[in-house]
Amino acid sequence: MIKRRISQPIRIGDIIIGGNAPIIVQSMTKTDTRNITATVKQISQLQEYGCEIVRIAIPDMEAAQALYKIKKKTKIPIIADIHFDYRLALESLTNGADGLRLNPGNISNKEHITAIVTSARERHVPIRIGINAGSIPLDSSNKLPLPQRMVIIALEQVHLLENLDFNLIKVSLKAFDVETTIDAYNLIADKIPYPLHLGITEAGPSVTGKIRSAVGIGILLQHGIGDTIRVSLTSSPVEEVITAYEILKTLNLREYGPTLVSCPTCGRCDVNLMELTDKVQDKLHNIHKPLKIAVMGCVVNGPGEAKEADVGVACGKGKGVIFRKGKVVQTLEEKDILQGLFDEIDSLA
Ligand code: SF4
Repeated sequence: MIKRRISQPIRIGDIIIGGNAPIIVQSMTKTDTRNITATVKQISQLQEYGCEIVRIAIPDMEAAQALYKIKKKTKIPIIADIHFDYRLALESLTNGADGLRLNPGNISNKEHITAIVTSARERHVPIRIGINAGSIPLDSSNKLPLPQRMVIIALEQVHLLENLDFNLIKVSLKAFDVETTIDAYNLIADKIPYPLHLGITEAGPSVTGKIRSAVGIGILLQHGIGDTIRVSLTSSPVEEVITAYEILKTLNLREYGPTLVSCPTCGRCDVNLMELTDKVQDKLHNIHKPLKIAVMGCVVNGPGEAKEADVGVACGKGKGVIFRKGKVVQTLEEKDILQGLFDEIDSLA
C-alpha cells in the first residue's frame, strides 16, 4: 500500500486538494478560450469522462473576459493559465477563476505578483506555481543540474508568496525528461508543505505521451508524491482523462469506472477476441461504476480470471462461458457472447 505524502489541503472551487483527499484528475482544454461555445462543450465532455478540474489558456484579455461566461455554463472548477502578463491574472480572478497557474519563468516582477496575490487572497483562490523546465530563466544558478535549478526557482516563488502572507499554494515541476521530473519532485517534496501537481510536460502524441506519463507520474505516485495529476497528450483531452484514471487505478489509488482484464490471445484462442475486447471496451466508456470485466481467450487462464471479475467470459472453440460474480450463468455461441456480456454488465451497472 502506498504511503502518501500528506500535504496542506487547499480548495479549488468545491474540490479539496491535498491532505487525505483523493488524487484529483485534471485536464486542459484545447479550444480557443475566446470561442465560448467550443470551450464550454469541451469542458462538459471532459466532465462526462471524469475530469475534476480543468485548466484553460488565457492568452489575452478577450480570453480572460470569456472566462466569465464559461464559468456560468460549466460545473467543474476552472484554473486560468497565465503567462507573461499579470493583468490577465487579475482579469481572470475578477471573472471567476477558481485557481490560477502562474509561470515564474515569465511573470517575475514583484509588484505584479503582489497585485495578483492580493486579489487571489481576497477571493480565497489558490495559485499554482507551475515550473516548466523549458521556460526557467537561463541566468538562475546555471551550473546546477536542471532539477535543482527548477526547485530553486520554485522555492523562491513559494517564499515570495509566503512573505505576502499567502499560503493557498500548489506547485508543479514539469519537464519533458522523466528522470528530471522525478528528481525535481523528490527534491522539493519534503521542503514545502503544499500540494504537488504532477505531469510530464510535452509528453508527446498518444502512445508515447501515455507511456511517458504513466512511467513518470506512476513512479512519483508510488513514492507517495502527488495530489493532482494531468496527463499531457498531443491528442484529445478526453484521452488525457482516461489515461489519468488508468494510472491511478493501476496503483489502486482511485476507483473509477470499469477495469477491463483481457488476455493478449495466442495460438490457443478459437474466437475473434480482439474484436470482442474492442467492442466491450467501447461500451465501458459509458459506465462510471467500478466494475471488473474479464475477456479471456481460452481455458488456460480464462475461467480463473473470469471468476475473479464482476462479469467475465472464458472462451473456448466458438463458444464462451459467461461468469457473473464468480458463477457460471450461461454458455453462448461466439456470435452471442458480446450481447451476453452487455446484458450482464448492464444489470450490474
Ligand atoms: S488465456 Fe488462453 S488464449 Fe489467452 S493468452 Fe492465455 S493461453 Fe492464450
